[in-house]
Order: sequence, then C-alpha cells, then structure tokens
Amino acid sequence: KAKKQRSGWELYDVQSALNNERDMMLRGALNNAMDSRQIILHFQPKIDMRTGSVLGVEGLCRWQHPELGLLTPFAFIDLIEHSGKVQAFGRYIIQSALEHAKAWKQEQLNVPIAINLSPYNLLDPQLPNYISQLLNEYNLPADVLEIELTENETCLNIVHIQSALNEVKKLGVEVAIDDFGTGMSSLAYLDSLNANTIKIDKAFIDDVDTNRGHRAIVSAAVTLAKSFDCKVVAEGVETKEQADMLVSLGCYIAQGYYFAKPMPEDNIKQFIQNSKSP
Ligand code: C2E
Ligand code: CA
Ligand code: CA
Ligand code: CA
Repeated sequence: KAKKQRSGWELYDVQSALNNERDMMLRGALNNAMDSRQIILHFQPKIDMRTGSVLGVEGLCRWQHPELGLLTPFAFIDLIEHSGKVQAFGRYIIQSALEHAKAWKQEQLNVPIAINLSPYNLLDPQLPNYISQLLNEYNLPADVLEIELTENETCLNIVHIQSALNEVKKLGVEVAIDDFGTGMSSLAYLDSLNANTIKIDKAFIDDVDTNRGHRAIVSAAVTLAKSFDCKVVAEGVETKEQADMLVSLGCYIAQGYYFAKPMPEDNIKQFIQNSKSP
C-alpha cells in the first residue's frame, strides 16, 4: 500500500483500529466474563441529606478484566447493547443484585438495591417472570429491587416500554427514570411510565449553585415530581454548595462523590452500618 502522509487522519485510523481490536476482544470475552463472574457490582449509597441516612444503593457494574484491569461501564456497555448479549446481561445484573440482597438480609442490612436496565432489556418477555422467580427462590420482598431506566435512542415506542414496565411494577418492584432531563422524551416518560422516582441528571447538578437556568430546571423537576407523586434524587453531587442548594430547592435525596463514591461490597456494608439508619 502507498505510504500515507503522517497526518491526524492516519493517527486516527491507528487509534480506531486499536479500539476495534479491543472491542472485538471484549465482545469475544463477554460470555466467559459472566460465567466466571468477572463482572461485578459496585455500590453507591443514596443519602437522605436531612438525616444522613442511607435510603438505598445503586449497583453499578464493573468488569474485572484479567489483563485490562477494572473496566467501567463506558468501556463495554455499548458493546453489550449492540450484541446479542443484552438480555443475558440484564438477567445477570438482576441476579447479582438479588444475591447481594439475600446475603445482606441475613446480616440485617435491609437496603433496596437499584440496578440499571436499558429499554432493550424490557424486550425480554420473560423478564418479569424471571424477576419473580428469583425473588421467590431467594425469599425476598419485591421492594428490595429497583429498576433505573435510561431512555436511549432506541426505536422502542413508549407504549411498549410502558406495558413491559407495568408487569414488573405489578410485582412490587420500583422504577426510576434515570438521567432525567437529558433525553428527548423525559416528560413523556414521566407522563406515561408511572415511575416511583426521577433521578435528575448530573449535568444539571454540576452547577446548580451557580447557574440560574439549571437551578430553574432542578426546581421545576422537583415540582413535577411532587405532582406526579414521585421521589426525586439528585445524581453526581460533589460539593457542599450543591448539596445545600438542592436542599433549599426541596430535593432531599442525593448520590455523589460528596457523600461517597461507588465502592465494592465490603466497603458499602461498612458504610451502611456506620451511617444512621432511617
Ligand atoms: P448512571 O446510571 O447515570 O450512573 C451514575 C454514574 O455517575 C456512575 O458512573 C457513577 O459512578 C458516576 N458518579 C456518581 N456520583 C458522581 C460524582 O459525584 N461525580 C462524578 N464525576 N461521577 C459520579 P459509572 O459507574 O461509570 O456508570 C456509568 C453509566 O453506565 C451509568 O450511568 C449507567 O447508565 C451505566 N451502567 C452502569 N451499570 C450498568 C448496568 O449494570 N447495566 C446497564 N445497562 N448500564 C449500566
Ligand atoms: Ca443509574
Ligand atoms: Ca446519569
Ligand atoms: Ca446513564
């Protein structure tokens, strides 16, 4: 092949070839990663800012890759969602969360665990059944599990999502709208999904104490949540200033580095034990 000029384009090609190679490797390793439990959950607490108590935790997946180290979801979630593995992965995460819930219950740690599902997971017609069977098998009440649903650019229509979610909610599993405010259809989701919680996206929290527009959006989200009888959670709270502003806007539940980063199971158990109970 003709020698190309050393240009940004050439560098870009090399880089994207490397990425493709890595993606292909990860894709090939995915089944084994689930079978051999390389994919685990870390947990971040949801804090009631008025009392400091832990109201629940969010399970965030991590891949402990034998060569690449600890991978965050950004390195592999897209791969999963564009592979045939998305439903197996959703079930895997649900099972992991419920295994933790079962073990924690035996240690008198009763905190609900939220997991993240993509709308694709709701295409699995057996999902509600799967959840219900596991709850039975582990002898757990449905309110130990919460589903955080991000709207994404699927062509799934909202009616479909709605009916799939209804089945899950009939079991008693709570549903949260994740990344609220960032998607094209946040309001439609709020209107039709009958969610228990909305989670205001970090993008609006980052400068809630300094940006009037974002403060107005958070304030409106709190009002909307109230009228839809939803709880409201702020994600990505990093400073005291943000926390104080949120409380003054009537948003009392928060997640973020200011309170705690996502952490492995042993640490979150410690964290819950050390925090005041609700
Ligand atoms: P998300 O659901 O919006 O989760 C919040 C993300 O923000 C997490 O990143 C969390 O670690 C991070 N975060 C929390 N507090 C702070 C903060 O104060 N500052 C900053 N800078 N970041 C904060 P993470 O764990 O890398 O997850 C990224 C996304 O990957 C999640 O966004 C979620 O959409 C997706 N995800 C995570 N686990 C799963 C899963 O099991 N299944 C699926 N389908 N998606 C998942
Ligand atoms: Ca989430
Ligand atoms: Ca988010
Ligand atoms: Ca997200």
